[in-house]
Amino acid sequence: MQGVGFRPFVHRLAADLGLSGFVRNDSRGVEVEAEGRPEEVDRFLERLAAEAPPLASVHAVHAVDVATRGTAGFTIAGSVAGASAALVTPDAATCGDCLAELFDAGDRRFRYPFLNCTNCGPRFTIVRGVPYDRPLTTMAAFTMCDRCRAEYDDPADRRFHAQPNACPECGPRAWVEGVDGEAVAVAGKLLREGAIVAVKGIGGYHLACLAGDEAAVRRLRARKHREDRPFALLARDLESALELVDLGADERLLHGPAHPIVLAPRRADAPVASAVAPGSDELGVMLPYSPLHHLLAAEVGAPLVLTSGNRSDEPIAHDDADALERLAPIADAFLVHDRPIHTRVDDSVVRHGAVLRRSRGMVPNVLELPVAACRPLLACGAELKSTFCLASGRRAWVSHHIGDLTNYETLRSFESGVEHFERLFAVIPEVVVHDDHPDYLSTSYALEHEGLEVVSVQHHHAHLAACLAEHDETGPAVAAIFDGAGFGPDGSVWGGEILVGGLKGFERAGHLRTVRLPGSDRAVRQPWRMACAWLSETLGAPPDLPRGLVGSVEPQEWTAVSELVRTGLASPLTSSAGRLFDAVATLCGLRAEVTYEGQAAIELEAACDRAECGSYPLPVSDGVLDARALIDSVMADLARGVPVGVIATRFHNGLADATVRACSAAAVERRLDVAVLSGGVFQNRRLIDRTAAGLAAAGLRVLVPSRLPANDGQISFGQAAVVAAGGPDVVAASRLQ
Ligand code: ZN
Ligand code: ZN
Ligand code: FE
Repeated sequence: MQGVGFRPFVHRLAADLGLSGFVRNDSRGVEVEAEGRPEEVDRFLERLAAEAPPLASVHAVHAVDVATRGTAGFTIAGSVAGASAALVTPDAATCGDCLAELFDAGDRRFRYPFLNCTNCGPRFTIVRGVPYDRPLTTMAAFTMCDRCRAEYDDPADRRFHAQPNACPECGPRAWVEGVDGEAVAVAGKLLREGAIVAVKGIGGYHLACLAGDEAAVRRLRARKHREDRPFALLARDLESALELVDLGADERLLHGPAHPIVLAPRRADAPVASAVAPGSDELGVMLPYSPLHHLLAAEVGAPLVLTSGNRSDEPIAHDDADALERLAPIADAFLVHDRPIHTRVDDSVVRHGAVLRRSRGMVPNVLELPVAACRPLLACGAELKSTFCLASGRRAWVSHHIGDLTNYETLRSFESGVEHFERLFAVIPEVVVHDDHPDYLSTSYALEHEGLEVVSVQHHHAHLAACLAEHDETGPAVAAIFDGAGFGPDGSVWGGEILVGGLKGFERAGHLRTVRLPGSDRAVRQPWRMACAWLSETLGAPPDLPRGLVGSVEPQEWTAVSELVRTGLASPLTSSAGRLFDAVATLCGLRAEVTYEGQAAIELEAACDRAECGSYPLPVSDGVLDARALIDSVMADLARGVPVGVIATRFHNGLADATVRACSAAAVERRLDVAVLSGGVFQNRRLIDRTAAGLAAAGLRVLVPSRLPANDGQISFGQAAVVAAGGPDVVAASRLQ
């Protein structure tokens, strides 16, 4: 561990117990030699793990006896060469001690927006290279004053070797572009008056405005070209967060070291503008995680919208010149500072105990693979919500969320991210892994690695493997992998898959009945096309425009699309579960078009009537989940005037129940006792809870994604797990048949 105060802690502990010896970093972790009376050495070993500082996670303590040396005193020795890498830690939220100093008028760092210590502060985002030492961070340009230097050099000090250590005299400063006066006071006043302020934070720029100011929030939406997607909120403290949402068990995540955005059910009386999260029964809330955010939240005294600083679909801005240019049309003012951000990192997002976006505060924590990679590898992930993963032996580093790999800017981020990780963790890949999809930019990137072995892994197999691997399992298991789309070995678009297998390979044991995907990608943006496809499939004939869609879909367009469905022109077959949600959401009148991926499904889940417990029929035969019966029931209930909330619930329950039946049958047939649920569609809480409960009742042990997202953010880790385990040979063989 580096920069988390572990070595000074060992030093204090040894001094406390009167032991002599040394502590130093080596390539495996931390090495300690301690000499003294046997009972003191035993005490030392006990306390080593039990009392470690907050950011140090002790994986294991291995102790061996060595000959005594008779040295006096205990020292912190220099790192052994090759002491990697070992371990650039994630950025950590401001600790309690620093927070107390921040608001203590008598402290020399009173209201200083960049205070930090070994227990908190920026890490990953400021690191330029290894070893993790001040000259190789973006703090290199700031020379510590005498008092800061003394703290930095004193093993007994909380700031011993805190690389970003700084104070108002020697460290970074903040200001509002073009305005004199104390930065936070100026920005706070502008925000209270309804302005949109770009705020440079830890991992990039945010856009902020008063969350309760309807006009300001609407202006922000219009300028950012973000129509419906919910905005995250910054609450000053836990108490004010609880006025916005019911946190339940997720409360501990809100103020854990990562300080992610927590999505939780909104309170009816939450004091926020309706434009913050239209159509959603949840709000995303985070607490201040840097001193600057603490000061700003306290200054404003009301919840703020704090959304990533970008125009829709672009990566978050982190470079100052680029941010000033790109955000100028959006922000009325800029609260900036002069500590450069080396790596752009979005806020992490969690919901219902599971990670939805793994980024700031979580990356670059190492994950363990169940089977060690015999050669170092790079896994390139998929396309949407892209991440990459480097692995060496059992250690795997999954990158921060890079975004949708569909434009040049994001691809550049991806490429420079890979280079940065390779240097930080000293991994030189010999194998490169990519998705089966030939058109993903991540696939072309992988194929450019001439001279290295390049391996392809099927998309849903990677989903299955990622979930198994994060639970340290290898399979075999039965899995329901439900998502929007992934390249199927048969050339169709998969996305409602019942798979049987493990890390090395898989078989398709079943799937959702296939329908046409009319106009391919256009059907993703226009869910009404899926309504047309499913109605055609159910009726066996071109359907009339349903009454509920009159006004939102042009009759000629409807006819043209039913013609695509009938002929199959530009309309591949798909078993996508995400597209089934789209169809039902449209039929229920929720929406005919979406402005972001997954929107229709999210709104269908939000519409559910909690009191309803009915379930639509969805027969399963030979592994095929035939959703025509379900569509029939939806249409019949709509015709009868059954409320949409009831229909939405019966749909969720019907799909969950059928999934349980399909998985249990496959498990019985193949004598499996583990079930895996993954894929982006399983971010739906109602669906995953009911499916998991049903599978558990059927006697299966159920694994669901927790530390990595269920969506395509987990694909790179799954690819790494497959190839490390020696796969995907089974897939290759079955494809040849
Ligand atoms: Zn601190
Ligand atoms: Zn200083
Ligand atoms: Fe996927």
